[in-house]
Amino acid sequence: MKDFKIAEPQTLEQVISLPAEEKDKFCLMAGGTDLLGEIKDEIISPEFIVDLKTIPGLSYIQKDKDGVKIGALTTVAELAENPLIKTDYPALHQAALALATPQLRNMGTVGGNLCQRPRCWYYRDPNMKCRKKGGSQCFASNGRNKYHAILGARICYIVHPSDLAPALISLDAEVTISSPKKEKTISLADFFTLPQVNVRKENILEPNEVLRELRIPQAKNGEKSTYLKFKERGTWDFAVVSAAVKGTVSGRAFKDIRITLGGVAPIPWRLKIAEDLIKGKKVTENLLRQAAGEALKEARPLKDNGYKKELIEVVLSRAVLSLM
Ligand SMILES: Cc1cc2nc3c(=O)[nH]c(=O)nc-3n(C[C@H](O)[C@H](O)[C@H](O)COP(=O)(O)OP(=O)(O)OC[C@H]3O[C@@H](n4cnc5c(N)ncnc54)[C@H](O)[C@@H]3O)c2cc1C
Repeated sequence: MKDFKIAEPQTLEQVISLPAEEKDKFCLMAGGTDLLGEIKDEIISPEFIVDLKTIPGLSYIQKDKDGVKIGALTTVAELAENPLIKTDYPALHQAALALATPQLRNMGTVGGNLCQRPRCWYYRDPNMKCRKKGGSQCFASNGRNKYHAILGARICYIVHPSDLAPALISLDAEVTISSPKKEKTISLADFFTLPQVNVRKENILEPNEVLRELRIPQAKNGEKSTYLKFKERGTWDFAVVSAAVKGTVSGRAFKDIRITLGGVAPIPWRLKIAEDLIKGKKVTENLLRQAAGEALKEARPLKDNGYKKELIEVVLSRAVLSLM
């Protein structure tokens, strides 16, 4: 591992005034649970890291008239323990609790969770120069691809590893980004980008932009939500397939429903086709199987990961039925 220096800014302005063209020289750090692993494994070798924790006022969970605001430096543990998140946004509470270990939840932040880099073993191997690291091929496409993407991937088969992201997208969260241009607020769903847009990145952030805050709209009367994560090991593990479902139930049907999958595509994957098929109809196992089947017609499994189609159907059905 190469030596690096640590910068301790006191304001966001100091961070956003860093020169974006010198992106290989610096990295932003929040809890460091992902970033320091990348540095130790020499996937990246910055000259200095910019510790966002030294900037005051970026860690909070505040209710206001429109919903709840969450500062990017809020830890995952604080999110999991917050009573408002637990009662009004169960999917987010469950996603936070399903994430990693207590130690990692104490250190890891919400912003860092959304901006973490992929877990693809070829990307994480310092000896493999894959497309994401500036090489010319995706080794997963014809290699070992049991945990890789079956949806949305064409040139790079990473899956988005975040547990919080599918829950937040199903809850219609927005994200505020501090930028040298102008601070902007966009839907979290538009924050993530496919490899086809820029294979080196997973989101729209420039190196000197900071994810500052998340906002989730007020939960509607009768709104329910859940997050269901299938992982291979009983101890900590990333999602093989996960589903975040939010909806308003009326009788045996959903008046509205949002479904976002994790672990299956390079970005959290909204299942719009399934949502449209389920909305307004009496929910039965047959309907859910049909909805998953239609939505998965665009899936393109690789050699080792065809099982994910069946798993999506099961995880999706269980998550939806748990809200009835
Ligand atoms: C053993 C292990 C198990 C894990 N298990 C899970 C799991 O089950 N589910 C899961 O979702 N994750 C998991 N993680 C991934 C990750 O460590 C955590 O999700 C954590 O929340 C990341 O937050 P952090 O603050 O430590 O991020 P950091 O490591 O500080 O940063 C991660 C990345 O985000 C960027 N970044 C951080 N904050 C900001 C910001 N505010 N604005 C712009 N860029 C920013 C950094 O530059 C860096 O590239 C695991 C990690 C480990 C090591």
